[in-house]
Amino acid sequence: MKSYRQHYIDGQWTDSEGGRPHQVIDPATEQPCTEITLGTAADVDKAVAAARRAFETFSRTSVEERSALLGRIMTEYKARLPDLAKAISEEMGAPIGLATMAQAPTGLGHFSATAKALADFPFVETIGRAKVLHEPLGVVAMITPWNWPLNQICAKVAPALAAGDTMILKPSEEAPSCAIILAEIMDAAGVPAGVFNLVNGDGPGVGAALCAHPGIDMVSFTGSTRAGIAVAQAAATTVKRVHQELGGKAPNLVLEGADLATVLPPTVAGVLANSGQSCIAPTRLLVHESQVEEATAIVKAMMEKTPVGDPAEMGNQIGPVVNKAQFDKIQGLIQSAIDEGATLVTGGVGRPDGRNAGFYVQPTLFANVTPAMRIAQEEVFGPVATITTYRDQAEAVRIANDTAYGLSATISGDPAQAAEVAPRLRAGLVTINSWSPDIAAPFGGYKQSGNGRENGRYGLADFMEVKTVVGAPA
Ligand code: NAD
Repeated sequence: MKSYRQHYIDGQWTDSEGGRPHQVIDPATEQPCTEITLGTAADVDKAVAAARRAFETFSRTSVEERSALLGRIMTEYKARLPDLAKAISEEMGAPIGLATMAQAPTGLGHFSATAKALADFPFVETIGRAKVLHEPLGVVAMITPWNWPLNQICAKVAPALAAGDTMILKPSEEAPSCAIILAEIMDAAGVPAGVFNLVNGDGPGVGAALCAHPGIDMVSFTGSTRAGIAVAQAAATTVKRVHQELGGKAPNLVLEGADLATVLPPTVAGVLANSGQSCIAPTRLLVHESQVEEATAIVKAMMEKTPVGDPAEMGNQIGPVVNKAQFDKIQGLIQSAIDEGATLVTGGVGRPDGRNAGFYVQPTLFANVTPAMRIAQEEVFGPVATITTYRDQAEAVRIANDTAYGLSATISGDPAQAAEVAPRLRAGLVTINSWSPDIAAPFGGYKQSGNGRENGRYGLADFMEVKTVVGAPA
């Protein structure tokens, strides 16, 4: 078992003050694989003091200096890609192929997109008689989830560094090792002491202490809507800027008359990839009543030919879900759909045949799902898709928008027609005939999926303050 008992504070690996050990469980074996320390409010105090000190100088660095720093981080990051992929795969169960080809490189993608955005960013604008300055925001607390752990971390760390902010990262206690390796990358790249700090811990301990701390200017949070609300409430008394990237329940609006054999595979892939543990997984298929049988057959075949297996092996299998709590939640939602009268087409409750250990979930498809069912409203975060029929486009759009979430939506069918429907969907991201976002374009939610935007130029802007100076010489 790997042991990482120290935090990274003020450029040093530092013992916790009063923290307790926590074992991360490998979801494939259900055995401990990593040990960390769940930190304390005293650890947070120390990290905030270091970040505040470092802000005095780091906030005055030039764009050229920060560009060079991002370049050195990318060099060090590339050298650690295999370590990052292995750490992610072991702790949250992504197959090693996915971890190597997607999970680990997405973090590098954020550094690269941010470096480009920084080079072009208009730090000074003129509006009327005023000069408008974009300035470093201060000390940022970053709280992140386990599902695409490094993607979420780097979507915050890269723009914060580019903006001239200093930061304290609290990664998910379910997948902490990639964040520890990232701290090693920062150290090797020569990030000045106190600019990047890492305090491991859980939500109620370190997370809550960060949100309430008067020395922090912004909390950038990615995770569940439940925790995001707690974060905003804890941060309110000190009037921090709070940036929330929360849950999703993406529709896959299949346009009437679409060529299903062509458009469904690349969109339904998003339900299966990462075992469905993606906030933008387009799990709610909305299909015209004339095409339901064909759509059901295509998705059923896709699910049944998806192997479920050991994430350590190279292959096209999907791995287990992250932990027992998630496994139990998914089983409960599958059962709820059966109880509420949906038609189970394939999959169902229980592990796949031949597996009696590991948090493996069967790829599962339900048909005859009505919008009011729990399975149509609640985020499942597993390889589970639903099919709901519609009669006309107005009804399809209404059902697509009929959840509390608004992170993303997928449209399958003719791209020109899809582009006309896209503005009617209440979601921050619309993907047509695919489910993947663009790493340089803004990413964030409508409704209870959050606020603020990450990625590229928009992400960089969100990690800065805006100052108006009236009366300065032209
Ligand atoms: P989670 O909300 O349980 O935990 C996320 C992080 O918040 C963890 O670091 C956790 O320790 C911390 N936390 C928990 N309670 C807290 C509290 N009261 N105060 C402060 N911090 C607290 O979420 P998860 O299970 O790790 O991740 C899955 C969720 O994340 C899903 O809902 C998914 O949709 C969402 N997600 C959203 C995006 C996005 O960009 N919108 C991206 C990835 C994941």
